[in-house]
Amino acid sequence: MELTRPSNPAITYGTYPAIALLTAVVVGLTVRNDLNRNAVAALLALVPVVVAVIVEWRYPLGPEWRMTKASFLSRDLPFIILAIVTERLAETLAVLAAATVVATDGFGPLARLPVAVQVVVTLMVFDLLWYGYHRAAHSHSRLWRVHGVHHAPAQLYALMHLVFHPFDLLASRFVVAAIAFRFTGATPDAIFIAVVIIGLQQMISHVNADLRVGPLNYVLVGTETHRYHHAAEERGNYGSVIPLWDIVFGTFVYEPTRVPARLGLDDPSTYPSPERFHETLLWPFRSASLPGATTSAAVR
Ligand SMILES: [Zn+2]
Ligand SMILES: [Zn+2]
Repeated sequence: MELTRPSNPAITYGTYPAIALLTAVVVGLTVRNDLNRNAVAALLALVPVVVAVIVEWRYPLGPEWRMTKASFLSRDLPFIILAIVTERLAETLAVLAAATVVATDGFGPLARLPVAVQVVVTLMVFDLLWYGYHRAAHSHSRLWRVHGVHHAPAQLYALMHLVFHPFDLLASRFVVAAIAFRFTGATPDAIFIAVVIIGLQQMISHVNADLRVGPLNYVLVGTETHRYHHAAEERGNYGSVIPLWDIVFGTFVYEPTRVPARLGLDDPSTYPSPERFHETLLWPFRSASLPGATTSAAVR
């Protein structure tokens, strides 16, 4: 599919700036007035999703990529509930593991830098770790069995940013969160801002709508670039919040007018259908392949 002039320019060019501006204002008020960061982070994880779901319901880019009642209830919901629990668990474990070793209110040279610089450094560390894990998850067969559930749907919409195998989340988030948020020495304000930015970009990058941000695609991962990562028979854009490491390691894909023809797995017969929740959860621990699958086709 080729993108031409947007059918609704206000939605295409206005949705992301509006959500980002609202988020920035709330973050600024939270830091200035020392509001409860966990409560604000939870609010900021919810409100933009509601806006995105309404936008993609009214103005879907790919009608065939839409969330349906069946896809949400019978496929996504169990994974989303598990993801929320697992992410909380991973973050708590990361805090507990770090608290015995390092100060929780920032330390070292990073904590002495301006908050904006701390945020940038934290995001760079976070995404370098993520990038390494994510590329490995696409090239090693056992890790792919854990990560593939995120790619199994042939659709792409906002709530899919939570559709992961819990071991994928635990493996990536625990290590990534512990190192990037606890062992770099960043202050709580910097960590809070980085967490909000990461959550927003991870959500917005899955939205099924014609959202365009132009050159900002070279600064932050978003809708226009992450959809290539979900394209069948091509891969790239392994970063989760900044495309820096994809650009550095030559895996960055951004073609402003091209939309992938097909999403999901190269060969769906190589991976359990994520509607089969229990089978998908157990898939990383099985030794057999699915009937008709070949080893080489199983890893993408
Ligand atoms: Zn992936
Ligand atoms: Zn994704």
